[in-house]
Amino acid sequence: MRFSKIFIPTTKETLKDATLPSHQFLLRAGFIAQNGSGLYDFLPLGKMVYNRIEKIIREEMNRSGALEVSFSFVTPANFWRESGRFEKYGKELLRFKDRKENDFVLSPTNEESAVNMVKNRITSYKNLPLHIYQINTKFRDEARPRFGLLRGREFVMKDGYSFHKDEECLNLEFEKMHQTYTKIFTRLGLNFRAVEADSGAIGGSGSKEFMVLANNGEDDIVVCDSCEYAANIEAARRKPSKFNGDEPESNMMSKFYTPDIKTIDELADFFKVDKFFTIKAVIKKAIFENKESKIVIFFIRGCDELQETKAINACGCLEFENLSDEEILKSNLVAGFCGPLKLPDGIEFFIDNELKNQKEMIIGANEKDYHIIGFSVSNFKNERFKDLISVKDGDVCPCCNGKLSITKGIEVGHIFKLGTRYSKSLNATFLDENGKSKPFIMGCYGIGVSRLMAVAIESKYDDKGCIWNKEIAPFSICIIISNIKDENQFNFSLNLYKKLGDLGIDVLLDDRNERFGVKMNDYELIGIPYAVIVGKNLVNNEIEFIARDGLIKEKISIDDIVDKIKTVLR
Ligand code: ATP
Ligand code: MG
Repeated sequence: MRFSKIFIPTTKETLKDATLPSHQFLLRAGFIAQNGSGLYDFLPLGKMVYNRIEKIIREEMNRSGALEVSFSFVTPANFWRESGRFEKYGKELLRFKDRKENDFVLSPTNEESAVNMVKNRITSYKNLPLHIYQINTKFRDEARPRFGLLRGREFVMKDGYSFHKDEECLNLEFEKMHQTYTKIFTRLGLNFRAVEADSGAIGGSGSKEFMVLANNGEDDIVVCDSCEYAANIEAARRKPSKFNGDEPESNMMSKFYTPDIKTIDELADFFKVDKFFTIKAVIKKAIFENKESKIVIFFIRGCDELQETKAINACGCLEFENLSDEEILKSNLVAGFCGPLKLPDGIEFFIDNELKNQKEMIIGANEKDYHIIGFSVSNFKNERFKDLISVKDGDVCPCCNGKLSITKGIEVGHIFKLGTRYSKSLNATFLDENGKSKPFIMGCYGIGVSRLMAVAIESKYDDKGCIWNKEIAPFSICIIISNIKDENQFNFSLNLYKKLGDLGIDVLLDDRNERFGVKMNDYELIGIPYAVIVGKNLVNNEIEFIARDGLIKEKISIDDIVDKIKTVLR
């Protein structure tokens, strides 16, 4: 394509609201334009990149045997009422009425639509498994749309839904999707990790997120330095921590007067022990589905931090709210002196797994100004013990003895074992081998297609602009004519442009009547992987070849240029 004929409105202006490089560069280089909060248009360059990403995803999904479909973007609310999500889903779900006062939603995800497509159409185990997917618009009225395509309100997702007769079959598909996603993100040239994710009530290995490692990521992920283990911080595990050194010896449990000693640091200081031997209480107000609330205490080691998502899963609530001093008082709890022994009646509590059977612990006495020492964490029911703590940098890997570290990632995909959550509520069943009616066992699999465009930039950019990898770049190479009035330069460039085009290479020919500096700036901003500069030295049969990554320049003879390009693009 010729730059003079294409629509690439680049701008030098830095845009105030765009804090991340991907947002800034996609706008400035004319890939996307913002229409409103979380709403974006794709300009020609943007659409080219988008199409390449979509193509790779579609090819690999089709290769896996999944079937492409399309669900209507506007979904009748009754689908969502049946699943119970019409009321439950937060404000992200955009609900509206048509002229006849019927309720609708704009799809933020399509479990209900998928079940409705399959329900009563597949009635026998003989027609299972089935995996249907779409690449389609989604709408989520995000509270804080930001970072451009990373968190839009309208965005494109590849969402797939699989239907099975049993768990075993679901597990096979889950594994196949793990491999398919690995192929997709590898082909997209991204540095990613499949991480164990929080799977809420389902638990186990039923949820994996694909994270691209990037400094500007919103997610904290834990990775092992010596094995494949990786997990979202919300689901990360570690080998139980150990104390290297002498344990305190108290010989018996006793109550101590500890006036005004309220924090863990003060407590460890007071008794001259490591915080490892203290237990802290984190008091929360849990809000449940039926809007009821309850005070719940989480007991963890003094040197650990509570992981909120794990705590929410432990007590099965929806979220936590702030607790006022008044509410604590009313519940007869003594802030700063809470312990798991003799709690006031009706107070729910959980204890971190790692504290099970620990001896010589110091705990609050549930009495103002008193603590108990020499406490053994035994005699509690098993149900009290849950994984509650947040893994830290330097903790030991649960799978090997490697060291864990925390890095930033951006979620680009999510695979999830749904089970019968939707087939049951929507009453979608099939007849098994014995003629018995059963709900489908389901899996769901998402990829943030439009988000990937921004993610590719977050993985690689410099202060001048985008650095696309050749898999998804809008063009493979840009030919920059230094001076279009120089007939030689112009004709040579046009010839090369045609020759490369005939070889099936996507070329952008910068034939604009602009200063060389302007063209070079645009090239760097747009970030096409390679460029050829045709300038004054053409009279000596010499041109310049540039690799955008690192802006590495080399002089090259006109006789070698086609081979050079073929080699780098291979
Ligand atoms: P996040 O945790 O980032 O909000 P999610 O867990 O809500 O994402 P899923 O429901 O798992 O997202 O959706 C599948 C994929 O869709 C995600 O992995 C992500 O890549 C993409 N996605 C989700 N929300 C957005 C958004 N607001 N804008 C762009 N892409 C999104
Ligand atoms: Mg997710």
